[in-house]
Parts: sequence; C-alpha cells; structure tokens
Amino acid sequence: MQDYNLFADVCRFIEEAASFTDLHPGLVDQIKRPNLTLQINFPIRRDDGRVEVIEAYRIQHSNHKLPVKGGIRYSTEVSQSEVAGLSALMTFKCAVVDVPFGGAKGGIKISKAAYSKSEIERITRRYAYELITKNALGPALDVPAPDYGTGPQEMTWIVDTYRTMHPEAINAFGCVTGKPLSQAGVAGRTEATGAGVFFGLKEAVSIKEDMDALGLSTGIEGKRVIVQGLGNVGYHAAKFLQEGGAIIIGIAEYEGGLFNPKGIDVDAAFQKRRETGSILDVPGCENVKPSQQLLEYDCDILVPAALENQLTSENAPRVKAKIIAEAANGPATADAAAIFRDRGLMVLPDLFINAGGVTVSYFEWLKNLARVSFGQMDKRYEAMSNQRMVEAIESAAKVNLTPLQRESLIRGADERDLVMSGLEETMSHAYREIREVHQRHKTDSLRQAAFVSALGKIALTYEELGIFP
Ligand code: NAD
Repeated sequence: MQDYNLFADVCRFIEEAASFTDLHPGLVDQIKRPNLTLQINFPIRRDDGRVEVIEAYRIQHSNHKLPVKGGIRYSTEVSQSEVAGLSALMTFKCAVVDVPFGGAKGGIKISKAAYSKSEIERITRRYAYELITKNALGPALDVPAPDYGTGPQEMTWIVDTYRTMHPEAINAFGCVTGKPLSQAGVAGRTEATGAGVFFGLKEAVSIKEDMDALGLSTGIEGKRVIVQGLGNVGYHAAKFLQEGGAIIIGIAEYEGGLFNPKGIDVDAAFQKRRETGSILDVPGCENVKPSQQLLEYDCDILVPAALENQLTSENAPRVKAKIIAEAANGPATADAAAIFRDRGLMVLPDLFINAGGVTVSYFEWLKNLARVSFGQMDKRYEAMSNQRMVEAIESAAKVNLTPLQRESLIRGADERDLVMSGLEETMSHAYREIREVHQRHKTDSLRQAAFVSALGKIALTYEELGIFP
C-alpha cells in the first residue's frame, strides 16, 4: 500500500471546498484543525501476568456543536494522523446529514485477535476510565460509537464504566451509542451503516439522467455489486442490496475473496466465515487470492467497506465499476479520487454514504435522553386509528381485505420501522442536497459538493456564535 495520510487528504478536500466560498481564511484554518488531541498510554495486565503499555487516542475535531461524536477503532494501523483524519471526517459527516454533533474519533493501537476477551474488556474499561477522568466522555460532551474492530460488547463495557463512575447521572446511557438493545440501544443501530449505504445508493440510482450518463439503468434491481470487507458495514450493505434485488458477484475479505457472476448468498458466506474463520471455499464460488484483485473486477457498483487506502493511484485506473460507494472511511486516496473524477465514475463519498451509523446513533442518543422507546407511546393508538379507517373503507366500498392486507395496513410503526424510515429520509434528503450543490456550483465531484455543503453549515455555526466576522 502507498504511504497515506488521511488527515492531509481531508484537509485537501476542505481547502478545495473553501475555494467555492468567500469564508475568512482564519475560519477555514480553525475548521480544519482538531480542537483537542488526547494521546494516552496506559498499562494493562495480560492474562499471563505480564504488564503491557497500550497506546490510545481520542481526538475531538470540532466542538462547534456538542456533544462531539465518533467511533472507536481497534487496529494496529491506529495513529494520531489516522484518528485526526477520521475525526475531521466525522465533523463533515454530521453536517452533511444535519446531525447536530461535532466530530471526534478514538482509536486503540492493538490487534484485537492478539488478546483474550477479558484482556479486551480490561483495555476497553481502562480506556473509558482515562476518557472520563479527562472529561472526554459523557452524554453532553463526547459520545463514542463502534467502529472498525469494536461493537456492542465494547460499548456495553464503556457505558458500564461510565455508570460506575457517575452513578447519579440520569442520562448516563447517552454516553455512548451502538449499545445492545438490553443496554438502552436502539433497534436498527447494528445494521444502520449498511442500511444507510443501501438507502443512499437507492436514491442515487433512481435518477435517470445520472444513470444514463453512466450507461446504467435506474434502480437497484439487477445491479452487479462487489463488496470489500464482510464486517458490520459490508455484511449489512451486501444483505440490504441483495434483498433489494442487486446481485452480489464478489466479496473480498482479508484471507481471500469469492466471485460468482450468478450471485453469492451473502448469509451463507457470512456464516461460513463466522464458523470457520475463512470466507473461502463456498460451494459454487471461485476463490480469489489476493482478494484485492476483486476491486478491479467488472461490476456496476463497488462497495469498499473494510479500511482506508484501498483504492490508490496505483489501482484506480483499472477499477471497472461505474459507481463506487465508499462504505468505509477514506477507502480512496485523494489521488485515486481525482482519477475516478477524470474517468467520469460516480463516487458516493464516505462522508455521505456511510453516515447511516451516526444518523441512527443520533436517534439512539435522543432515545437515551428521552428515556422512552420510539413508538412506545403511539404504536397502539396508530394501529387503532388505522383499524377504524380500514373498517370504514371496507364498509363504504363493500370489500373485504385479506388478513395479510389488513395486517399491513393496520399495524402501527415499531421502533425499528421508525428508525429505518428516519434513516431513509435522512440519506435521501442528504443525497438530493449534495447533488443540488454539485449542479449549482459545478463542483468536480459529489465529494467536493458534500464538503462545500458541510463547510457552509459548519462555518455558519461559527459565524452565528460571533467568533468570526
Ligand atoms: P468491522 O471490523 O466490523 O469489519 C471490517 C471487515 O473488513 C472485517 O471483516 C475485516 O476482516 C475486513 N478487512 C480488513 N482488511 C481487509 C482487506 N485488506 N481486504 C478485505 N477485507 C478486509 O468494521 P466495520 O465497523 O464494518 O467498519 C468498516 C469501515 O466502515 C471502517 O472504515 C469504518 O471506519 C467504517 N464505518 C463504520 C461504521 C459503523 O457503524 N461500524 C460507521 C461508519 C463508517
């Protein structure tokens, strides 16, 4: 892989966006720089008694809105510049989808596979303790979420540590999102980022003019898709796309990839990997090694959903997909993005297409502050109103609906229905907004348009605070 500095790339995108505005250069400088950088080293005791020092980060990129929000990643690639870049992306991502948070990101430089579950628990709880004692974790201050290498289990340990240290805090559950349902999580959060990728793609491929320009038909149905990374984001994106009628022809994982032009059963591949540790040797599929090659296979939509720096100036000229949906953060370098632009590909940029996670995290945080589930107050009322309406229509029109039709019309919305509906609306509105900015400013890509749109919103907050003229 080529040398890569995500923070430098994000700064380059911000500077390019600023050239479309008349913002004060000092304001742009302020918006670029992280507000707070914590680099923490702490000891943990390994199961065999050894003491090991762990390197960790939390960077609050922009506290123009509070709390700040962003995931925590466990990876050996974690570095200050990576976390800074990811935290800056969070600031812009929140602005793109109108989620009222500033951006942040955290990371622990470990290979999760090298530690036992109890060691991971000790690392996670100690990291949470370090953040709490530095005022860098709390429902009004800084609210982490899962990212690469973390999930509901780590979020549970974090919230438990916070509650232990703040037993009086009535909003304690709002200190972190991506929690399991039993720990005040919200229905739909686990699959939110992948679902958001699907909703964003669905909106993008619905516009005939844009699809004509790419030589594609409208709609998800029949689109040939290759996904890199079958983790949280990649699995759910692939699953939603498959359920929406797309054909998943390739899946690339760490140990190798699968290819089947007739379509891969996403669940079967996922289960196979969960049970055996490898995605390879699924019946009917061709093994591809190294899996990186799949990024260059012919397809309609490429969904890089693993890590950053996967599409570079080296392989970008050979990518055959017409649409690239950046489900991971920073999967394409700025140089690769320029190549895709020159080749006329449609790139749905990370700060838009993977914003489903932070959108539903926002819903989870609202639920935690409200201390009531979405739909709890009105589901039954809505169902009863619907029933009265259906009965009135049946009697006036002298028809009898089938039990299935009745059930689908009467049923009130539950929490997951409301979360998915809010997510679809958010992704589709954000896409229309970015596309409108793209056309109005004649930006050279949807990424540039997303940065221009978000920069305007962030700058407005600073200006309204009176910090800048
Ligand atoms: P995850 O740990 O659940 O899954 C990542 C998957 O990618 C793993 O299965 C891993 O084996 C695979 N992988 C790693 N390197 C690979 C390689 N070189 N080739 C092929 N596969 C590889 O992580 P995730 O939560 O799904 O996050 C993936 C990406 O999405 C990250 O960039 C993350 O920042 C971004 N993201 C995640 C969320 C979220 O809600 N989890 C939200 C927004 C963005």
